[in-house]
Amino acid sequence: MEPHIALLPSAGMGHLMPFLRLAAMLASRNCKVTLLTAQPTVSAAESKHLNSFFSAHPHIQRLDFQVVPLQSSNPHGDPFFLQFEAIIRSVHLLPPLLSSLSPPISALFLDIAAATCVDQLADHPSLSISYYILSTTSARFFSLITHLPHLTLESSCVNLKLHGLPSFSISNIPPPIFNPQNLFTTQMISNARAISRVKGVVSNTFHWFEAETIEPLNSGKTSITLPQFLPIGPFKHYEDPGKCSSLSWLDEQPAKSVVYVSFGSRTAMSKDQIKEIGEGLLKSKQKFLWVLKSVKVDKAEETELKELVGHSLLEKIEEKKQGIVVKEWVKQEEILTHHAIGGFFSHCGWNSTMEAAQRGVPMLAWTLNGDQRFNAEVVEKAGLGLWPKHWGWLGERLVKSEEIEEKIEELMQDHKLRSMAQKVGEEAKRAWEIGGTSEKVVGQLIEMLKLKVWNV
Ligand code: UDP
Repeated sequence: MEPHIALLPSAGMGHLMPFLRLAAMLASRNCKVTLLTAQPTVSAAESKHLNSFFSAHPHIQRLDFQVVPLQSSNPHGDPFFLQFEAIIRSVHLLPPLLSSLSPPISALFLDIAAATCVDQLADHPSLSISYYILSTTSARFFSLITHLPHLTLESSCVNLKLHGLPSFSISNIPPPIFNPQNLFTTQMISNARAISRVKGVVSNTFHWFEAETIEPLNSGKTSITLPQFLPIGPFKHYEDPGKCSSLSWLDEQPAKSVVYVSFGSRTAMSKDQIKEIGEGLLKSKQKFLWVLKSVKVDKAEETELKELVGHSLLEKIEEKKQGIVVKEWVKQEEILTHHAIGGFFSHCGWNSTMEAAQRGVPMLAWTLNGDQRFNAEVVEKAGLGLWPKHWGWLGERLVKSEEIEEKIEELMQDHKLRSMAQKVGEEAKRAWEIGGTSEKVVGQLIEMLKLKVWNV
């Protein structure tokens, strides 16, 4: 009998994308899959992607999960973190939903951002299932999360050595973690406490890319007891119909001549910073495809492109025909696969990082928030990209056009970087060949999921 698996993503495209990829992968390996969709979604991109995903994958079942809105939601809080909180507080609604599924589910995959839900679910008498976590970040950042409940952070120390794991630089830890009252911090600590209750932690990474963290995580030598860490990346692209206008412009460009510029689905920059980026790209003389966002949540997006970039800069860009700027959702994976792309100027969100690694596209990392400095350390160590650390967190300082120009030139002209990035792409492919590390771990995971069905 095929195992019936339920998956519960939290909020934001950076969390939804890996869940959709995992859902498609499990379905392709003879699992029946139900995806729980927390409603209402925070962004328009999430509801649009969910609709197109379910029409392209009719064999995957959709189950809407109406989340109870927070009573006293903080209007200044991050809407994505507030939605994590709303999901966590609506956990009591899950047991009836999950036990209504037929055939009965044998496992539930929870998002690391809502892993604490396992505390209530695992003790519920109507549910006799296994629990897994999908970690949507690097193994490196995940290993920091595992230690959060026991960590005393002092900003005066420079490095942090956690038992059995590689050492971290304190300056790479996201600033909110130093504030125990911060919502992100309190959520992460509760989520971290729940990790030991699950059977396995699935992650979009691969052994070669993060061996120095993955091996200790699975060695049993860490100071806390952890479930099996299952690196099964890079996650594969799933069928997603529809066109993306930037691709026809790319078709006209020479091989490896274009730098793709995007800082993810929810990073809004100031107009001053946007101007510096635009000037820097022009000065670099490199071709570019630049995707701009002016607000954190796309539903609130109202500013015209002209107003955002500035009339004169936009005119200059159009006149020089050196690049294009768009203010829309693009098909990033298809862009990164295009032969015209020679580099990726990115915030180092973990999905973006893995998408570049998979294709051997060199990165210029500008780490802005959250886990991104930990992710950039992985990028730098593997030789996938450059990371000017002194550019700071988002808004910490104005990064000037000359600095951007210099790094873009380096990104596009450094042959050694290009060949090292290519090697990363080859290793990523190898992980998925027969007998490759990720392919083997997926096999193990499917066996673990089937075992539960046979035991019932
Ligand atoms: N993405 C995309 N088109 C866009 C913006 C983002 O396809 O215009 C995808 C990108 O490929 C990645 C995800 O959205 O899969 C963003 O996740 P990531 O972890 O890189 O960053 P976040 O948006 O969470 O900061």
